[in-house]
Amino acid sequence: MIKTYKYRLYPTRKQTEKLEWTLETCRILYNSALVDRNRHYEETDKGLSRIDQQKILVRDKKNIEYLMNIHSQVLQDVLFRVEKAYKAFFRRIKEKNGKAGYPRFKQTGRYDSITYTQSGFGIDDVGKLSLSKIGHIKLKLHRSINGIIKTCNVKKEIDKWYVCFSVEYTPVTKKQTVIRKHVGIDVGIKSFAALSSGKVIKNPKHLIQAEERLIKKQRRLSNKKKGSNNRKKARLSVAKAHKRVSNQRKDFQHKLSRKIISNYDAVGVEDLRIKNMVKNHCLAKSISDAGWGQFLSFMAYKAEEAGILFLRVNPRNTSKACSVPGCGYIYKDMTLSVREWTCPSCGTTHERDVNAAAEIDNILVRKIRQELPEYTLGEISSMDDIVSSNTYALKSILSKNQEAPSVRAG
Ligand SMILES: [Zn+2]
Repeated sequence: MIKTYKYRLYPTRKQTEKLEWTLETCRILYNSALVDRNRHYEETDKGLSRIDQQKILVRDKKNIEYLMNIHSQVLQDVLFRVEKAYKAFFRRIKEKNGKAGYPRFKQTGRYDSITYTQSGFGIDDVGKLSLSKIGHIKLKLHRSINGIIKTCNVKKEIDKWYVCFSVEYTPVTKKQTVIRKHVGIDVGIKSFAALSSGKVIKNPKHLIQAEERLIKKQRRLSNKKKGSNNRKKARLSVAKAHKRVSNQRKDFQHKLSRKIISNYDAVGVEDLRIKNMVKNHCLAKSISDAGWGQFLSFMAYKAEEAGILFLRVNPRNTSKACSVPGCGYIYKDMTLSVREWTCPSCGTTHERDVNAAAEIDNILVRKIRQELPEYTLGEISSMDDIVSSNTYALKSILSKNQEAPSVRAG
């Protein structure tokens, strides 16, 4: 499995200039690769592939001196990104019946990272990050790397520099095959998530407050005169606030996912990939889904590390089916505004999200019984541990106010 390690970099003034220059040159290369693709298509009616563009790049390198001052893999990675933008464009055409925004030019400052895809980077004897064509940059290795480093991505975030290594490693943990405690989790609209144990996890207060502050800052920015110094300052302040909010959100999701994974032997969630095929017109719902995606990926890798079963189940009807064993009534006309309902078949009153989580847990159990012979169900069921040990632990995460944002990547 692949894991990302992120560290802060401390380049000297000279190195910063070099990094900035490299980003800017890559940005220009990216934009001209887009132009080339367009032009080629208009002139010949045929597409230009990444391989074609690589050949052009190799030829250009002989004539254009400044391209020689950038590592060849970093240059090639630019073409990979162009290819990726095109693939996404064609996918959007397919999905939206022909209507899709064309891949856009990167404006100044919008190209913010470079990638060494295989070599050209390393950590030297004195613990600095050595980057071919750039130099040896001081870095803070706050935790050690476990596994084989595959790629090295150097990134500028507002006014700070970071390096992200993507590392491949094989978890050594043995799989937990006897499942005693299992749980289904559903995304909430008002809350962050609901557990089949009955626990509803709220969005932490400090996060909501930080988001509100961000909205205020954004409003202030839009009132500033265009091109003014004050506007520049306000924009930087908005960008920083944005970063802070996203760090806090990550921090919250890391802690919560760690807690859940360490408390259960099997975890079931909705499969977002299937879910996204069903068009979603509710804005609040799609925003909560967006945050949910990151949370699921955190849980997925933590589960793999811990040898815990993590299953994504088909979300069809999970929010509409009564989760009471043996009932299975489906509330067909349920809208998003329904928060609580009483099953006309068995008479149980359900809190909407908790019921959905319980239904996901039912599917999880069914899958373990019918499709996963290597697993066995132990004695304690998820309903037994309703609020025992977990509640306090979760509460303590959620009440903890304003922690220093972590710089760890997902
Ligand atoms: Zn029922």
